[in-house]
Amino acid sequence: MVKQQVESTANGKIRCDACPVMCYIADGRAGACDRYANVGGDLIRVDPLTIIENTISEGGNIVPFLARPDEAEWDGDLVQSTKRFVTAVGAGTTYPDYKPAPFIVSQKENGVDMVTVVTEGIFSYCGAKVKIDTDRFLGPETSAIRVDGETVGHVTTGEYGSQMLSLGGVHHLTGGSKKEGRVTCDTLLKLCNGEAVDMQVDGGVSLTVKAGAAPVINGAAESRMRVGCGSATIGMFAKQWMGHVDEVVVVDDHITGVLSEHQAGKLLDVPPTGIRIKGRRSTPGRYFQVAEPGIGWGGTNIADPLTILSEFDPKTAWPGMRMLMVSTTGEQYAYYVLDENLRPEIQTVLPAAIQESVEIIAENCEPALSSVMFIGGAGGSLRAGVTTNPVRLTRSVKEALTYVSCGGAPAYVWPGGGITVMADVTQMPANSFGYVPTPALVAPIEFTMRLEDYRALGGHMEAVVPIEEALAVAERRVSPMGGSPWPTEGRNFRWGG
Ligand code: SF4
Repeated sequence: MVKQQVESTANGKIRCDACPVMCYIADGRAGACDRYANVGGDLIRVDPLTIIENTISEGGNIVPFLARPDEAEWDGDLVQSTKRFVTAVGAGTTYPDYKPAPFIVSQKENGVDMVTVVTEGIFSYCGAKVKIDTDRFLGPETSAIRVDGETVGHVTTGEYGSQMLSLGGVHHLTGGSKKEGRVTCDTLLKLCNGEAVDMQVDGGVSLTVKAGAAPVINGAAESRMRVGCGSATIGMFAKQWMGHVDEVVVVDDHITGVLSEHQAGKLLDVPPTGIRIKGRRSTPGRYFQVAEPGIGWGGTNIADPLTILSEFDPKTAWPGMRMLMVSTTGEQYAYYVLDENLRPEIQTVLPAAIQESVEIIAENCEPALSSVMFIGGAGGSLRAGVTTNPVRLTRSVKEALTYVSCGGAPAYVWPGGGITVMADVTQMPANSFGYVPTPALVAPIEFTMRLEDYRALGGHMEAVVPIEEALAVAERRVSPMGGSPWPTEGRNFRWGG
């Protein structure tokens, strides 16, 4: 474990200065965040410094790294598989920021002298964007999301087949009550470390969210992400219904599709059926607002799909007309035949071809997951631990001279000012995140660049050490997570030479 420099003691306690809390810690005890402890007078970062290797996975399997295009393919020879990347997980934090980051390590990569600056950043400005693969209605947009009764974020604009949550952020961490800040920080910590969190949406559902796992909505695990909107579903499967059914309605809260009116039906010469759909017609065969949003058919509030139909047009419809109604996941479906009065009569047995088409819709749905993206701003004082001239780091990142990663996971760097990064928490080593009671989240961040570029941007050259010094204290070795590429193979890094 990494030993920190102790700068002051009082009454036999040592002072941790890794964050503004400045805990005095007695021998054998840990500080307020449980990240640092006093072990026989030494200030120790409790969690092990973690490195990524391309040799042996945590499960003991040999894992080949992804070779760069200009390198020979790895042939299984362990002698070749010695790439190592020092992550910031367990590295510690320096405070105030003008001190060099805890590890600034140099190593040769592809014949180039490289340097990686690692630090566990303290992020008061951070949060999580959560994508929940479901078309069920979680609650009105902008509704508050609560954990233990405290507001920790809100429902934001939905995306294609997924609902989105925006959690955390400086207003909930520091702008509300002390409890709100503490609960928000705890929620982010758990989500980012891959733990399940129960939450409640105001005017909506109860949710259990865990990164990489199926969301649980009102106590039921979601299984399928819809294949597309109702119109897309018509477009994808129209041909398969030909000759087996006269009309298909794909019920969807966003865009309900109607085969006979849809362009796909027109091109396939499907005749008009006299169907009348409630809701707002957008373009032919595409209807908005056929019902209220909910957790029923296709993310609407309906349990009976016939409620979205008005009476069939008697001039066009005919007795015996066959109609399939199906949701965008294929979870709900019903097959009808019009009676003498042009009223749909439900059929208990579906023709085999229709049954098969419903199964194909279901088969084309991907498993519903919750995805958690950590988002944090490293554009502030954290940069001073990297360089004496912080704005040069920002420029270097923007110019793709410096590659940013979080616990070795590729970090998307937002355009515009500052260094606002976003990373998939499932690509980071387990327990990558910590907290301090200010409150703020502690997240690993690494900056990798060529040594000559580091010098040019005013880096702490006096603090650069060979990677072996970090390896000597590293106690945890992991493989690249979730099939992610080797850390420095990121897209926003430009190899020199
Ligand atoms: S809260 Fe943690 S990091 Fe901050 S001073 Fe205390 S022990 Fe150190």
